[in-house]
Amino acid sequence: MTRGSRKFIVAGGGIGGLSIAYALAQKGHEIAVLEQATDFTEVGAGIQLAPNGMRALADLGLADPVMPYAWKPEALQMRNGYTGAPIVKLPTNAEFAQRYRAPYCVVHRADLLSILLDACQAETRIDLQTGARVEGYEAANGGVSVRLSSGQTVEGDALIGADGLRSAVRQKIVGDGAPEKPRHVVYRGVVPRHTIPDALWCQDVVMWCGDGADFVHYPLRSGELFNLVVTFRSPIELEPDDIEGSLEDMTAPFSGFAPEVHELLRHLPHERRWLVSDREPVANWAEGNAVLLGDAAHPMLQYMAQGACQALEDSAELAASLSRHSTIDEAFRAYSHKRYLRTARVQLSARRFIEVCQAGPVFDQVRDHYFKHRPVEKLYQAIDWLYSAENHLRFE
Ligand SMILES: Cc1cc2nc3c(=O)[nH]c(=O)nc-3n(C[C@H](O)[C@H](O)[C@H](O)COP(=O)(O)OP(=O)(O)OC[C@H]3O[C@@H](n4cnc5c(N)ncnc54)[C@H](O)[C@@H]3O)c2cc1C
Repeated sequence: MTRGSRKFIVAGGGIGGLSIAYALAQKGHEIAVLEQATDFTEVGAGIQLAPNGMRALADLGLADPVMPYAWKPEALQMRNGYTGAPIVKLPTNAEFAQRYRAPYCVVHRADLLSILLDACQAETRIDLQTGARVEGYEAANGGVSVRLSSGQTVEGDALIGADGLRSAVRQKIVGDGAPEKPRHVVYRGVVPRHTIPDALWCQDVVMWCGDGADFVHYPLRSGELFNLVVTFRSPIELEPDDIEGSLEDMTAPFSGFAPEVHELLRHLPHERRWLVSDREPVANWAEGNAVLLGDAAHPMLQYMAQGACQALEDSAELAASLSRHSTIDEAFRAYSHKRYLRTARVQLSARRFIEVCQAGPVFDQVRDHYFKHRPVEKLYQAIDWLYSAENHLRFE
C-alpha cells in the first residue's frame, strides 16, 4: 500500500458497493468487495438515471462508458390508466438537460452493473470476492474485523456496508431489525422491441396510473429493447420470500385498465415477482470506522426512481469526504451528516408519490386537475431540489 492509502472492506457488490469501490481505488486506496452471491449480477430490468444520478456517475468518471448504452427519453409521462388520457408530461429534452447539467437516461441494469464491474476489474487495488456473506464486524486494532458466514474473518482499516435492504452491517450501526413486511408487488421484464406493436411503442418513460396499481414502460439500449414494470399494493402484508408469481396475480389489479395496457401486459413474464419495502429514515449511518451506503443506509420505495441515483451520490460524496478529512471516522461522520436529510426527503417523497401515482376515486380527479393547470416551469421547480446541481456534483 502507498502512503496515505487505507484498506477498505465493502460489504455488498451491487451498484452501491461497486461504485464506492471504484471511487476509492481512484483515490489510491485498497478495497476488498465481499459479495454474498456466487456472481455479480443485476435483475433483468431497466433503471432510470435522473440527472443527479448521471452527475454522480460523471463525478466517478463513469458517465462516458454508460452513455452508449443509455436511452434518452424525451419526456416522463403519466396517463390515466383507464382512459389513456394524458395527466402530465415532463419534458426531458435539451432544455431539461441544460437546466440540470446532465441528461435523463434509462439503462439496462445488466449494462450498468457490467460497466461498474469492468471498471473495478481493471483496478489492481480492488479485490472482488463472491460467495462471501458478511455476518457482522468488530472494531479491532484501530480498524475493523469482519466476520463471514464461512467462519473466516477479513481485517481492514474500515468497513462500508453496501449490503442492501437487509444489511448485516446496519444491524450493528442502527440496530432497527428487519424491515416491515412488504406490501408493494412488482413484476418486471425486458422484451425485444420487435415484439411490441408499433402503435403501443413509445419513446418516453410512460406510467399508466390506476387505483392501487400502475404500469410503467420505456425503451432500453438504442431502442432495441422495451422495459415493462407492473406495481401494485397488496391489501395484506406479504412474506419477503413470497416471490412466486402468476398471470392472475399480475393482471387482476389492472381490471378496467385501457386495452393498450392489457395488450402490453401479455408480453410481461409473470412467473416471478419482487416484493419491495423501505425503512424509516435514520440520521446516523456511521459508527467508528464503519458506515452505510445505498439501500443499506436509506432503502426507499421505487416511486421516485432514485435508489440507485442516491447510492451513486453517496459514493461520490463518501470518496470526497475521505479526501477532505484526516481520519476515517471523521470522514464517515461528515458524509453521513451531509447525506441523511437529502436521502430522507427522497425516502419520504417516494412514500407520498405512490398516493399520486396510484390514486383512488376523487383523489385521482384532484391530481389530474392539479397537473392540468401546471406550466412546465412549475413542474421543473417542483423537482429542482432533487435533480439540480446544487449538491455540487457536476456532469462534465
Ligand atoms: C422495482 C424497482 C425499480 C427501481 N427503479 C429504480 C430507478 O429507476 N432508478 C433508481 O435510481 N433506482 C431504482 N430502484 C432502486 C435501486 O434498484 C436500488 O436502490 C439500488 O439497486 C440499491 O443498490 P445497493 O447497491 O445499495 O443495494 P443492492 O442492489 O441491494 O445490493 C446489495 C448487494 O449486497 C449483497 N449482500 C446483501 N447482504 C449481504 C451480506 N450480508 N454480505 C455480503 N453481501 C451482501 C447483495 O447480494 C447485493 O449484491 C428500483 C428498485 C426497485 C425494487
